[in-house]
This record gives sequence, structure tokens and C-alpha cells, in this order.
Amino acid sequence: MITAALAPAPQQSPIPLPAPRWQTLWRQALRAPAELLAALGLEAADLGVSDAALAQFPLRVPRGFVARMRHGDPADPLLRQVLPVDAEMRLAPGFSLDAVGDGAAKKSTGVIQKYRGRALLVATGSCAINCRYCFRRHFDYAGENAAKGGWREAVAAIAADPTIDEVILSGGDPLSLATPKLAELTDALAGIPHIRRLRIHSRLPVVLPERVDDELLQWLAGLPWPLAFVIHANHANEFDAHVDAALARLRGVGAQLLNQAVLLRGVNDDIEALAALSERSFAAGVLPYYLHQLDRVQGVAHFEVDDERALALHAQLMARLSGYLVPKLVREVAGDTGKRPLQASAS
Ligand SMILES: *Cc1c(COP(=O)(O)O)cnc(C)c1O
Ligand code: SF4
Repeated sequence: MITAALAPAPQQSPIPLPAPRWQTLWRQALRAPAELLAALGLEAADLGVSDAALAQFPLRVPRGFVARMRHGDPADPLLRQVLPVDAEMRLAPGFSLDAVGDGAAKKSTGVIQKYRGRALLVATGSCAINCRYCFRRHFDYAGENAAKGGWREAVAAIAADPTIDEVILSGGDPLSLATPKLAELTDALAGIPHIRRLRIHSRLPVVLPERVDDELLQWLAGLPWPLAFVIHANHANEFDAHVDAALARLRGVGAQLLNQAVLLRGVNDDIEALAALSERSFAAGVLPYYLHQLDRVQGVAHFEVDDERALALHAQLMARLSGYLVPKLVREVAGDTGKRPLQASAS
């Protein structure tokens, strides 16, 4: 006689689990430094983790991004971008609260225009990840986002200015908004004849690639303008198979993919890291666009690379890579007519 315990288990029906929706993964982001460090086998004390910095700008990092960090490496370039540390609390001369003059360039609620032809919409203040070097750590978005009131003010400001031929969705991260909310904007913009291009700046295809779902692709595929999509990746290790798949899907709807990175001490400030970033981006169908000098906001001085070193690194990149793999090295200067190419100082 066969006992119940020895009987073969009844055949399990092979129902695949549905993939989690991006909103679920968004909510499951890590927020506690202790949990992040435990996942990596690291000690808080060795890393100078700071409660004061955490209180100023919370930790937030999607689990899929944590999975790309190296276990047991306190100098991991992805970890450094998200971990709140003591160095952020040191006041540094020349580092202010509104480093790039956003306050002065406001055109309407959530609409910033600094450069000819391009209106930038601060679509939302939310991001899936909190990057320690970001100016957003100080910006008050509560009443300043363009989505407020069904985008009405923002759309009216763009409609009223025929010199605007490109609308840029930025933030925060514009893809933090639900797709129907984004479609509400583009439906309203579709009636404005002087718009020729749409641009989206988002870190989500990299930090939460599941955001590039069927609903998003359907929306993008139906837009009436050519689309430039600028991802923000700072290190080659930010790419994995999920990110590659998300980027391939974006290319599949005709988006021109570009990368904008920030030059960050301890993250990507060496020739190997920068070359790898360009090569890995291109392998994923993304052309390097800008390499930015850091915006000088309070709390980020420990990430700064001085101009002389930045220029030397850039010269090494030019000597090493195909021309189209070399990003433009720029800085944003309040009051300028565009991003300013870095130049050797006259002295
Ligand atoms: C950076 C930026 C742009 C885009 O500049 P490009 O050089 O075209 O990439 C547009 N508007 C504002 C306010 C910006 O800060
Ligand atoms: S705006 Fe970009 S850089 Fe800043 S926190 Fe959000 S994702 Fe990071």
C-alpha cells in the first residue's frame, strides 16, 4: 500500500504568475538604509550613512536597481548614487539651493523656458529613485508641476508662443505619471501647429524598466511628432537584460534614444568607466548625448570633479572612442542661451 505521503503529487497546472505591474514595483522600492546595506552585506558605520542626510532627502531605490549593485562592495558606483552619507551635510562655498536659475526661467506653472524653441515641462516632482547628486533634493514641486489642473496653464503657455517647436517632458521623472495622464497632455498639445518634436527625459527605463509596458508603448506609438527619448544612465552597470529589453521596445516605436550622464566623483570619473558607459549605451541602442558637470547645489560637493580633470577625461575619451560615442561635456550656467561646453580656463 502506498501512503498518501509517497503518492505522486497531482500535476500542477502551469499557470504562469502575472508579471508585477510597474506601480507595484514602484511601491516596493527600498527606503531604509539598513535594508539596502543588509541586501548588499555591508555595514552602515563603514559607509558614513547619515540620518540627517536621509531626513533632508529620503532614500528610494527600486529593488531591480539594487540587484545590479555588487555585493559587499562599499564603493559600488550604483550604491554611491543613492546612499545618504555624512558628506552631504557639509556646507561648501559656491553650492546653493537654486544652482541653475530655474526660479528665474519660469514661464508659467510648471513650464520653464531657458533656450530658444524649447519649453520644458516639469510634469511632476516624483521619481522612482532618489539620486543624491540631484538638484531636486531642494526644489519645491508641490505647486509647481505642469500637470496641475489638467495641464491647462502649461498647454496655454505653449499654444501662445509660436516660437516653441519642441516640448520637453521632464521633472522629477515624467514617466512617474500614469500613462493616461500623459496622454491627456499630448492630446491637448496635438492641436498646436507649431510643435514639431517631443522629447522625454526619464530615468525610468533604466531604474524601473518595467515602466516600459504595453500601455506606454501604445501611447508613444500614437504620437504625431518625432520623439527623442533621453535616458539618464551614469554607469555601464546600470544596464542589464531588462533594461536592454525596455530600450529595444522604445526603439521599436521609433524613439531616438540618447543618454545624458552626470560626471560624478567616485561613480564614473575615470576613463574606463566613461568609455564603458558609452559602449554599453550604444550596445543598447542609445547614443551618448551629454556628460554634465554637476549642478552646484548644497549637499553634492563631494561628487564634484574639477573642470581641469573633467576636460582631461573628455580628451582621453576623444582619443579612444569613435566620435559618435563621445558625449558633449557641458555645464548648465544660469542665464546662458544653451548648455555651455566646458573650456580650459584662460589662466
Ligand atoms: C537642458 C535644458 C533644455 C534642453 O537643452 P538641450 O541642449 O536642447 O538638451 C531645455 N530647457 C531647459 C530649461 C533646460 O534646462
Ligand atoms: S530628477 Fe533624475 S537625477 Fe533627480 S532624483 Fe529624479 S531620477 Fe534622479
